[in-house]
Amino acid sequence: MESTLRRTWAEIDLDALAHNYHTLRAHVGAAVKFLGVVKADAYGHGAVEVSRVLQELGADYLAVSSVDEAMELRKNGITMPVLILGHTPREQVGLMIEHHITQAVTCRAKAVEYSEEAVRCGGELTVHIKVDTGMSRLGYLCAGRHFETGVQGICDACAMPGLRAEGIFTHFAVADEETHSSDVYTAGQLDLFNEVIRAVEERRGEAFTLHHCANTGATAGWPETYMDMVRPGLLLYGCGDYAEGLGLQPVMTLKTTVSTIKVYDEGTSVSYGRLYTTPCTTRMGVLPYGYADGFQRSLSDKCALMTDYGAAPQRGRICMDMCMIDLTDLPQVDVGDEVEIFGKRLSVNDLAALGGTIPYELTCAVSKRVPRIYYRNGEEVGRELLLRF
Ligand SMILES: *Cc1c(COP(=O)(O)O)cnc(C)c1O
Repeated sequence: MESTLRRTWAEIDLDALAHNYHTLRAHVGAAVKFLGVVKADAYGHGAVEVSRVLQELGADYLAVSSVDEAMELRKNGITMPVLILGHTPREQVGLMIEHHITQAVTCRAKAVEYSEEAVRCGGELTVHIKVDTGMSRLGYLCAGRHFETGVQGICDACAMPGLRAEGIFTHFAVADEETHSSDVYTAGQLDLFNEVIRAVEERRGEAFTLHHCANTGATAGWPETYMDMVRPGLLLYGCGDYAEGLGLQPVMTLKTTVSTIKVYDEGTSVSYGRLYTTPCTTRMGVLPYGYADGFQRSLSDKCALMTDYGAAPQRGRICMDMCMIDLTDLPQVDVGDEVEIFGKRLSVNDLAALGGTIPYELTCAVSKRVPRIYYRNGEEVGRELLLRF
């Protein structure tokens, strides 16, 4: 671990996370509960550390994508409610019941499986019903001519033995896009969700405890979607188009160091594929940061990274374990100096846009060999490396 530290690492600012949480809570109002999405190792930030902070600050719920992710939290002292958004095999129902993990129920076949298995275990599985209002991924299909079968399917699931239907939710496809047609689509999804809720609750004669649908885009700009609980991920980490406007701070800063500096004559080609040729005498730094660490190869020769003295253009193909930056105009930069890839000074949004992707993908891509260093009150409080040694 120590050996990897002066190479490439991700600083995780837990104070920024706390700030974002408080800011978002103030934004949505005290009456609205808060579910923090911590799937995919909290978008690469470290699910256990992030969840500990959210639990301590009084968040109401967490969401992950699989039972393994949920169990990681349970094994590390997270006792607050956890919702699994994705599929769980029926063999794991007993485990979910034992560890008070909530499961999304997305169709009749899953409801039947979960119910049978819960009855067999002699326990009760808490579930949230997922409604497909237009994302066309998981959930009871309820649009148009499917309304009646969808509503009846949901009512049937709620009545199945061994299942306790605590919540109902849906997911938006374009709540983070600001075109008119996207707004119309989101409003349509919300209307349908409200209609499904009304029909199901009327038929059952009972209301769900938790109704939720607001992801990042909806939490930022659609107060009418808040219902009982908001469900943002990206906003918590201070990334994306809405973060700055809401006063949120980036939680992750990815850093590397200059390992070597060499000076090349004019006309020297650099790296695989000879993508870049020096136009003059060029002072080039080698960074121990490549696509195996999470640097999109498609960004080759397109971006700049931040030194203490200014931005240095990245040159040539990004390799598996290394890449090169041009230090010709930054003579003060020396071997051993820190270079920021994204975070507090270089926005992850900008780097993602350059690479034709979204900030989610860049923070998730930070690989297991990049140690996470956690900071609180400006001081290091933990380190984590996902390599096994
Ligand atoms: C990932 C996910 C979220 C969070 O999305 P953000 O855009 O990061 O806010 C919310 N709900 C579901 C069902 C998800 O899969």
